[in-house]
Amino acid sequence: MKLQELVRPNILRLTPYSCARNEFNGMNAHVFLDANENPYNANLNRYPDPLQEDLKKEIAKVKGVPAENIFLGNGSDEAIDLIYRIFCEPRVDNVVAIAPTYGMYEVCADINDVEYRPVLLDEDFQLDADKLLEACDAHTKVIWICSPNNPTGNLLERQQIEKVLTTFQGIVVVDEAYSDFAQERPFRYELANYPNIIVLNTFSKAWACAAIRLGMAFASNDIISLFNKVKYPYNVNLLTQEKAIEILHSPAKIQQWLSIITTERAHLLPAIGELPICQHIYPTDSNFFLVRVTDADDIYRYLVERGIIVRNRNRVALCGNCLRITVGTPQENCELLSALRQYKS
Ligand SMILES: *Cc1c(COP(=O)(O)O)cnc(C)c1O
Repeated sequence: MKLQELVRPNILRLTPYSCARNEFNGMNAHVFLDANENPYNANLNRYPDPLQEDLKKEIAKVKGVPAENIFLGNGSDEAIDLIYRIFCEPRVDNVVAIAPTYGMYEVCADINDVEYRPVLLDEDFQLDADKLLEACDAHTKVIWICSPNNPTGNLLERQQIEKVLTTFQGIVVVDEAYSDFAQERPFRYELANYPNIIVLNTFSKAWACAAIRLGMAFASNDIISLFNKVKYPYNVNLLTQEKAIEILHSPAKIQQWLSIITTERAHLLPAIGELPICQHIYPTDSNFFLVRVTDADDIYRYLVERGIIVRNRNRVALCGNCLRITVGTPQENCELLSALRQYKS
C-alpha cells in the first residue's frame, strides 16, 4: 500500500495554514505581538496549542500510544469527516462499511458526496471479511469497522478484522469507542503491524466527557500528518484541553465508574431477559445492549411517556423490533426495569 496513492491529489498538494505560534520557536519569548490577540483577559486571550502537545503526552501514557501517533479532534466525528476529506474524491471514490453500524460514517459520506457501500453483518452481527472485501473495487479508499459495534454492542471476530487489515490495500478504520467496556486487546496497540489502520477512541463514553467534545485517532505518523494538514488550526479549544487533562488525572474515578457500569450490565441483562416483552438479548461488550422485543415502537412510546428515553432501532437493517438501551446508574436501571414490568401491550 502506498499512502500517497490513497490521498486526494489536492490534499497532497495543499500548503496548510501556518499559525502565528507555529512560526516562532524561540524559547525566551515573553512579548507576543504576532497573532492579533487582545493582551488582556489572561488565560483566555491566547490561541490554544494547535497540536495539543501537553494533552497528547498525558493521553500517550494512558493509552499506550506514542504522542506522534495521536490526532485529537472535536469529537470522533471530526476525525470521521477528515478521513473522507483526506482520502475520498467526491463522486469518484467510495467507502465500504459494515451494517448496521454507527450512523455518522454514512452521514459524513453523504455530506462529502462519497458513495457509501454498506455490507450486512450476519444474523449474530458478525463480520465476514470476504464479503466485505468483495464489495470493494479500485475506487474503494476506506473500510469502516466498529468493534465493539454500535448499535449491536458486540465485538467483531478478531481474525476477520485482521484479514481485512492485511488484505485491503486502503485505509481500514477500526472504531473502538467502546473498547474500555470489552475484554479484548484493543487494536490501538497494533499500529506497528498495520500501516493502513486508523483506530478511533473518544472521551464521550468510558471517560464520561461527551460534553467537552474530544475524540482521538491513532495511526501511523504519516497518516497523523495528513490529519494535521487538513484540520482547522485550533480545532480543540483550550477549555477542552484543560478539562481533558483534569479527567486524565483521575484514573481511579474512571475505573470506579467502569466497574459500576459493568456490574450493573451483568445484573440488568438477565433481568431484562426474564420480561415477557423480551424476545432476544444480544451479547454485549459495551455500556449498552440491543434487545429484540414484542413491539419496539409501542414500548418505546410507553417508556417516553414515563420519561425514560431509549433508542428505537426498529427501522435499522437486521434490528427489527430492537431497542438499544444504555446502562445507567443503579437507580436508573431499577426505574427502567420496573417500568418495563408494568408494561401491558
Ligand atoms: C459514541 C460514539 C462515538 C463518539 O463520538 P464523539 O464524536 O467522540 O462523541 C464514536 N463512534 C461510535 C461508534 C460511537 O458510538
